[in-house]
Amino acid sequence: MIDSSPSDDPVASLTCDYLVVGAGASCLSFVDTLLALRKEVTFVIVDRFSAPGGHWTKAYPYVRLHQPSCYYGVNSLPLSYVDKNGNEPWDQNERATGKEICEYYKKVVENFEATGRVKTYFETNYDGEAGTNSDSSKNYDNPMEKVTHKITAKNGQVIHVECTKVVKCESKVEVPSMRNGLPFPVDKSVVKSICLNDIASNIGKKSSHKNYIVLGGGKSGADAINYMLEDGKVQPDQITWVVPNPAWYFIRDKMNSSPIPGKKFWKDGIRALFAPITKANSTEEAFLNMEKLDVVQRVHPNDGHFPKIFKGATLSQFEMDNLRKIKNIIKLKGRVTSITAEKVIFADGEFSIPFSPTNTLVIDCTSENNYGYTNFEEGIQIFNPHRIRLGPLSSFLNPCHSASQAAFLEAEYIDSQSGDEVKNSFLYFQCGASELHKENLIQWFMVAWYAHMSTDLEFNKCPNYRSFVLKSRIDRQQPAHHGGILGLLWAIFGPTKLLQKAAAFREKMKNGGYKDFPTDPLPGRTGADPSKLEANMRNPPQPKESKKSFRKRIRFKKPQSTEPCDPMTQETALSTNAVIEVHA
Ligand SMILES: Cc1cc2nc3c(=O)[nH]c(=O)nc-3n(C[C@H](O)[C@H](O)[C@H](O)COP(=O)(O)OP(=O)(O)OC[C@H]3O[C@@H](n4cnc5c(N)ncnc54)[C@H](O)[C@@H]3O)c2cc1C
Repeated sequence: MIDSSPSDDPVASLTCDYLVVGAGASCLSFVDTLLALRKEVTFVIVDRFSAPGGHWTKAYPYVRLHQPSCYYGVNSLPLSYVDKNGNEPWDQNERATGKEICEYYKKVVENFEATGRVKTYFETNYDGEAGTNSDSSKNYDNPMEKVTHKITAKNGQVIHVECTKVVKCESKVEVPSMRNGLPFPVDKSVVKSICLNDIASNIGKKSSHKNYIVLGGGKSGADAINYMLEDGKVQPDQITWVVPNPAWYFIRDKMNSSPIPGKKFWKDGIRALFAPITKANSTEEAFLNMEKLDVVQRVHPNDGHFPKIFKGATLSQFEMDNLRKIKNIIKLKGRVTSITAEKVIFADGEFSIPFSPTNTLVIDCTSENNYGYTNFEEGIQIFNPHRIRLGPLSSFLNPCHSASQAAFLEAEYIDSQSGDEVKNSFLYFQCGASELHKENLIQWFMVAWYAHMSTDLEFNKCPNYRSFVLKSRIDRQQPAHHGGILGLLWAIFGPTKLLQKAAAFREKMKNGGYKDFPTDPLPGRTGADPSKLEANMRNPPQPKESKKSFRKRIRFKKPQSTEPCDPMTQETALSTNAVIEVHA
């Protein structure tokens, strides 16, 4: 258990089972699941930020979830409303704000601490293993050996943490407010720029700026523009929008037939996603099929350009229509590389637009890393000796459920090389710094689906997963969100044949069924080997006894009338007065 707190001693030391680096969505979901599944383990959580919530603590004030709240966060605490049946229904309009998410995670951490098994240290940096300050993994010689790591509080106090495993979030989400200004040279003597967090006090009537240059074509850029246009604070012709690479957006109100689809959820999902993807023969065709249904949209459908980018950003139709009001769009000219007193210069060095510093404000909505979903090194594994690396997505666009799946496996299988091999074998995800991930190409979407389906299908080999996941609120497929268990069974076994469709899609991706994937896009993964599962379980099921051996083991003995009748024997006596003798 935890020995001491840092304030006791200038160089304190702590002991725990898991040292968790990061109090964002991924790590908190991991801890939540493992706390519930393993009642004996302890955690120390550190984060360099001052409060839980990860990047949400730095997000712009008008940020909201893309997705319904009902499946974001951790399993143990609802984030959405709970209906009269005790369910958190799928409700497209119920999307938590950044502030609500931060308050939610504060409560989550309070609940963790109340168990007495979790300690948290904010404004504290994880430096690496003590002595080396590196993240290096230990080998498997002794998986239960405690390794000492170093964390440093803001006041410079160093704490040594002895733990069996480090759990680290590797998603490296970066939002503009985490940077110190624009990520390229700017003539600061005249150019005024702000990050999108500071829009409110810099636009509208109070502002001296007549024109705004919004940098960034992703979700942040789209949110900034929608916020500016709201209530006529800014007119569309005051905005110049720099979109280096036009992208596709999901349109949430076109994905479901109503905001609360209930039992129609599965039918809608098949119509909006499954059918258009599975009947296509390339990613491009899949996007065109979805576009016909308005499920994905591009800002300019008629400009002759087919967007190559998809980042998972989701908008409403109203928000998309707002974006279409912006006429001054600088697209396909690459990124801005500098801003001088006279012009904004773009990547190829040839192209620039005039800039007037006296009346123009630059708004930074740029981001390098696609929500932290991509850019994991080639060959990364989640489970390593003494180290668990979170971030890669085994569940489609769902870091919370991906981390919870990892925690389930950690609880289910033992701490050893073979145990970790088993855990890793269930999880399919993308990694490697290929174009696909660096540029967030549309193919990334297809591989994310493929990884999700493959992971789900692998988990069919693990009987305990089913009862776990059916109760997991952060799994978007959880029956309580939409129509209950009968709805799910209907989707799986009814005319929609969901399971069969998922397996068919997996095979098609694996075997060159899509033109842009001539070979398996997640090569080298063979999945979980059923023959190794039971031997690596923490709590293997007791072998079922045959009737014959049961009869042999239990034999009946007539009590002798002279024997004293002790209370215990009386308790176990059968009505025939025989006593069961049990032989191990
Ligand atoms: C605008 C926006 C909207 C989004 N909307 C959604 C959505 O609707 N649904 C969805 O599923 N996802 C959404 N995402 C994706 C989002 O990134 C994830 O949901 C999730 O919040 C990522 O959490 P994380 O824990 O992986 O990373 P982070 O939130 O970045 O957390 C990592 C934490 O680790 C800490 N840390 C890292 N290294 C160290 C160290 N050495 N020492 C101490 N602390 C350290 C960091 O301080 C940070 O707090 C959105 C992202 C953005 C930017």
